[in-house]
Amino acid sequence: MLTVEEALNKILSEVSVLEKETVPIMDSLGQVLAEDVLSVLNVPPLDNSAMDGYAVRSADLKGAGEKSPKVLKVIDTVIAGGISKKEVTPGTAIRIMTGAPIPKGADSVIPFESTDEEKRKKEAPDKPILQVGIFEATKSGEHIRKAGEDVKRGATILTKGTVIRPGAIGLMASIGYGRVRVIRRPVVAILSTGNELSEIYEVLPEGKIYNSNSYSIGSLVKQYGGIPKLLGIALDNEKDLVSKLKQAQYADLLLTTGGVSMGDYDMVKDILARDGQMVFWKVKVKPGKPLAFGKMKGKTLDGKEKTIPHVGLPGNATSCMVSFELFVRPAILKMMGKKKLEKPSVKAIINESVVNDAGRRIYDRAITEKQDGQYVAKLTGPQGSGILTSMALANSLVLIPEETAKVNKGDTVQALMLDWNEEVDI
Ligand code: AMP
Ligand code: MG
Repeated sequence: MLTVEEALNKILSEVSVLEKETVPIMDSLGQVLAEDVLSVLNVPPLDNSAMDGYAVRSADLKGAGEKSPKVLKVIDTVIAGGISKKEVTPGTAIRIMTGAPIPKGADSVIPFESTDEEKRKKEAPDKPILQVGIFEATKSGEHIRKAGEDVKRGATILTKGTVIRPGAIGLMASIGYGRVRVIRRPVVAILSTGNELSEIYEVLPEGKIYNSNSYSIGSLVKQYGGIPKLLGIALDNEKDLVSKLKQAQYADLLLTTGGVSMGDYDMVKDILARDGQMVFWKVKVKPGKPLAFGKMKGKTLDGKEKTIPHVGLPGNATSCMVSFELFVRPAILKMMGKKKLEKPSVKAIINESVVNDAGRRIYDRAITEKQDGQYVAKLTGPQGSGILTSMALANSLVLIPEETAKVNKGDTVQALMLDWNEEVDI
């Protein structure tokens, strides 16, 4: 039986980085840049004011102070988005709002708070401000945001290989970049198998259970940037299975759930071995031992033959989610061109004992939080492989090594973080 690392390496060696595509920047969140982004503009495009106040010539204000204000003639007002046609000549000033371009002749901005404008407005509320007293001297460049201080024309603002986050999307928008070249997202076909399954919009017949795997796995695919294609339920017979699997032929990755254990009707692995190629079956892990991996025949959109990596996830609701986190998530990230494929882990104190009698690596579900300066991992109730509640409550997977027969309450374990809760102080 393969170890977790061996199984993961086999899967990763069978998936490749996908092609490039051009998408609107709003659709690119989480994708990997396939090109350097160069700016054709300065941002900001012009020198502009960092304050609401007066655009002045610093040379006019030598010796200005609280008790010896310099009085300047006010010749115009310029707001953000406007341009003053006037020039600030000796002895004059232009009222200016934050973000407005600095008028010709001015080399500094004095904030309203350092002028007597407020007082003048109170004394003559209906009159325009024709003069203003300035209470402080200034130096050239004060309260001015220089053209190109954020982005210089010609500069590389984002480099190929960067994972696009909201700041990068804002930065691209700031240079008027509407579409971007990225590595495309994988289309992931998801087929749940089992005669016992019923769809969520049906009244549940006796003896059946609702199909939850399609939805948990579909949302994991979405969370990690793939495009899930839910193919519904296949019955445990060859005819139905083969015909439903055919619907996955254009996908980049095929995920099935169920049908990989030892039961009479566990046919997924048999069909994979017969119609495709089985790379491995079974991993030394708990939950998730019956994981199968292989390749199925598929087609490209222009009709050529291709092979599709096929991960046969176990049917049990928690096993299939844990297996996804360990084996499918890194494959999706690799296909998207990402370099960092591991989740972060922390050392945590476990709050209960766990016996490992199977000699496999255990991934128990837990809430891992910082308490009094150290991480504490609290298991989220019963840990059976079908207990989905344990996964729904968890933010982490606690790892018990295959060679460890028992961890005791209070021992230090490794916790693989799936999510950082708000309460967790990184
Ligand atoms: P299998 O590996 O096909 O024997 O499935 C193991 C168990 O997982 C089944 O007995 C069901 O209880 C459960 N199961 C299988 N498929 C699903 C599914 N799509 N949604 C929820 N539970 C499932
Ligand atoms: Mg089944």
